[in-house]
Amino acid sequence: MREVDLFLFNSDWLVTCDSHMTRFRSGAVAVDGDRIVAVGDSDELKKSFTGRREIDLRGHLLMPGLVNTHTHAAMSLLRGLGDGLPLDRWLGEIIFPLEEAFMNRDTVYLGSLLSILEMLKGGVTTFCDGYFFEETVAGAALESGIRAVLGQGILDFPTPDQPNPAESRKRAKAFLSRFPAGTDRVRPSLFCHTPCTCGPKTLRWVKKLCREHGILFQTHLSETTREVQTIWSRHGKSPVSYLEKLGVLDELTLCAHGVWLSPPEIKILAEKGTSLSHCPESNMKLGSGVAPVSGLIASGMRIGLGTDGCAGNDNLDMFSEMDKAAKLEKVFRDNPLASPAEAVLKMATIGGASALGLGSETGSLELGKKADIIAIDINQPHLVPMYDPVSHLVYSATAGDVRFVWVDGIQVLTGGIASTIDEPAVISEARRVGNEIIAHLNRSGIGV
Ligand SMILES: [Zn+2]
Repeated sequence: MREVDLFLFNSDWLVTCDSHMTRFRSGAVAVDGDRIVAVGDSDELKKSFTGRREIDLRGHLLMPGLVNTHTHAAMSLLRGLGDGLPLDRWLGEIIFPLEEAFMNRDTVYLGSLLSILEMLKGGVTTFCDGYFFEETVAGAALESGIRAVLGQGILDFPTPDQPNPAESRKRAKAFLSRFPAGTDRVRPSLFCHTPCTCGPKTLRWVKKLCREHGILFQTHLSETTREVQTIWSRHGKSPVSYLEKLGVLDELTLCAHGVWLSPPEIKILAEKGTSLSHCPESNMKLGSGVAPVSGLIASGMRIGLGTDGCAGNDNLDMFSEMDKAAKLEKVFRDNPLASPAEAVLKMATIGGASALGLGSETGSLELGKKADIIAIDINQPHLVPMYDPVSHLVYSATAGDVRFVWVDGIQVLTGGIASTIDEPAVISEARRVGNEIIAHLNRSGIGV
């Protein structure tokens, strides 16, 4: 009998999200340190393992933590502003002016902590961010216990943490040199806002710096028809051909949205090994369009799901994102077989982890992987009866059903309550900043 640090057993269901989407009717997971050392049938594993800490998970479903592959965490402070505007007007009239007025080290830290709290409570154990003052997001991620890939935002015009765009290379290097060392749970990345707001020189040097450091390069890509037209008119090429020519597409490049990708562009991305973050709710809310998900899945690309910043969503609920990812494609293609539940669940777990370059570390419950695990309370009217747990996870479960969360084998959520973040304090402070933002909007006459 082997004694391990943590033994979770008697779960009503266990969905591994491995390549066969293996499920166990009564499942158990043994964890030693930060790694999974066994996954399987509960009665079988009880013969081999005991835990220094043991949790009977009767009435729960065990699965890997969800992976949110695209967000701007601090934007939770701008949630719900500018409803009804298309992307360019929403950014230009509401978001950019408010970021200039309000986003600083303190508010980015607060907004990120608020988002991390929402994500942990909703079963997200890994997120990929792109924003400003990203060192402070690293601080919030480290304190909270969540896993994160954090991209310092770079644009060719003034930003809240880089008023002089000519200095942005220095800013990026300073970010990388200051990034907290000594943990692989929180990793740095660089994030070019879009191929429209970053010129060819910027896209090239940012990718070069990413290659030198072996880190993820991120960019928004083909989110709106306007963005696609801008690239065509400036460069005489499709956005993907343009990025290919610049040499920025490879296995450590993550593109977000990809709403207006053509079949030849998808082929190029697939050949380059570039991954994509599919963000259906943001695309729906901003009226950006419907991404060619069936074509993306068929191409074999690594695809994750992303909420995008919750100012354009307006939440960080990955269960809701899965539901929309499955249903939007069906209604748009007039085909109930499109975007099946299993493919969508993979996007939210192992697909997302792979898209971030973390596929060997997290995203599924498998031997040797990091113990990023969530338990969902299935004794609820909307989850009964449960014939197929995969179907229920995509179409019926909600973020509010998550009861326990472990990251690196450490319990960060118990009974729906976060143990690493002072929830009442964060909510109260976010409300205070929200009141300041409203007062500012009233003074400046910006209509929301
Ligand atoms: Zn985004």
